[in-house]
Amino acid sequence: MSGVPGIPAARYRDRLATAREALRGAGGALLLVGPGADLRWLTGYDAMLTERLTMLALPVDGSALLLVPRLERSGAARAPAIRSRQVGLASWEETEDPLALIAAAGGQAARDPGSRVLVGDRLWASFVLGLQAFLPGARFGLATSALSELRTMKDADEVRLLREAAAAADRTVLAIAAGRLVGRSEVEIGREVRDRLVDEGHDEAAFAIVGSGPNSAEPHHAVSARVVAPGEPIVLDIGGTLQGYCSDTTRTLWVTGRDPAKGPDDAFRHLYTVLEAAQAAAVEAVKPGIACEALDTAARQPIDAAGFGEAFLHRTGHGIGLEVHEDPYLVAGNHELLRPGHAFSVEPGIYLEGRYGARIEDIVVCAQDGPDALNLTPRSLMVVGG
Ligand code: ZN
Ligand code: ZN
Ligand code: ZN
Repeated sequence: MSGVPGIPAARYRDRLATAREALRGAGGALLLVGPGADLRWLTGYDAMLTERLTMLALPVDGSALLLVPRLERSGAARAPAIRSRQVGLASWEETEDPLALIAAAGGQAARDPGSRVLVGDRLWASFVLGLQAFLPGARFGLATSALSELRTMKDADEVRLLREAAAAADRTVLAIAAGRLVGRSEVEIGREVRDRLVDEGHDEAAFAIVGSGPNSAEPHHAVSARVVAPGEPIVLDIGGTLQGYCSDTTRTLWVTGRDPAKGPDDAFRHLYTVLEAAQAAAVEAVKPGIACEALDTAARQPIDAAGFGEAFLHRTGHGIGLEVHEDPYLVAGNHELLRPGHAFSVEPGIYLEGRYGARIEDIVVCAQDGPDALNLTPRSLMVVGG
């Protein structure tokens, strides 16, 4: 793990209390959460996702219990909410049925006919169907609405971790831009990106998109065997995690090699100028009270006006935190209003299929007085020798 301090243990008490209030507000008797961001947010436990059940049971009245497989017990015992006794810990043996134990931990309220049980939205269907057999009278629903709402509002420690992660990603971008590119494959460059993401301070590398030449026109291209040549762009979209919190940034490079005549053509320069203005317009529009969809419109207007509307084929951004894509989404139709503490990407792109494309992506926090952009590398086109 990085030496960066994580979330203070006392914070989990508040989070569990707010989750319980949200559960009560939703008329729920029991909240059940498996491995993933919700569990980590509630307890600090980064659980392994396997066929062996790990589950937090949070009854609306009564004490919270984390049930883990016996072989993962000592790891779970180190989680902040367990260590500070906010949540009890139990383990199950290989011959036991953990779902029976969860049904028991839910208490009488969960077994009452017509009770409402809310489950995390990433819980495997096999577990949900098994639980339904143990709690036949319960009505099952998703915990998403209750929990994602809470998780979107980042506190100062979460913003600090997002900022540290963003800085580590920025250093990685600058190192890749300054290094050798021509003659190397996207796969090789992607491997270097992952190594550097960790060297620069992430606990883990999460993804590395290296879209060179025509691949830059595919927003979710990963890496391929294609070898980078002079006179083409590279869309570099990279991210990792630090104490669970994600980074995600995109810069577009233009590789000239040793030949100055291989610089960007006028058409690409024009495309990029439009994109840069669009990204800046959306970032500048960030403030408390503005609708998420208004930021999407702010990015889309200059791109539409330049005739590239059809080539901007995805939403403007996504929330970020313990998950790289989470609420709130910057997309037409999302009327949700920004509040201080919302953290999200602003990442318009223009993609000319078969030819080339570009994207600029920053993580931005909505602060009391406007945008707080976490990524600080230059947003202008990086023309590099490579
Ligand atoms: Zn994406
Ligand atoms: Zn990205
Ligand atoms: Zn993104």
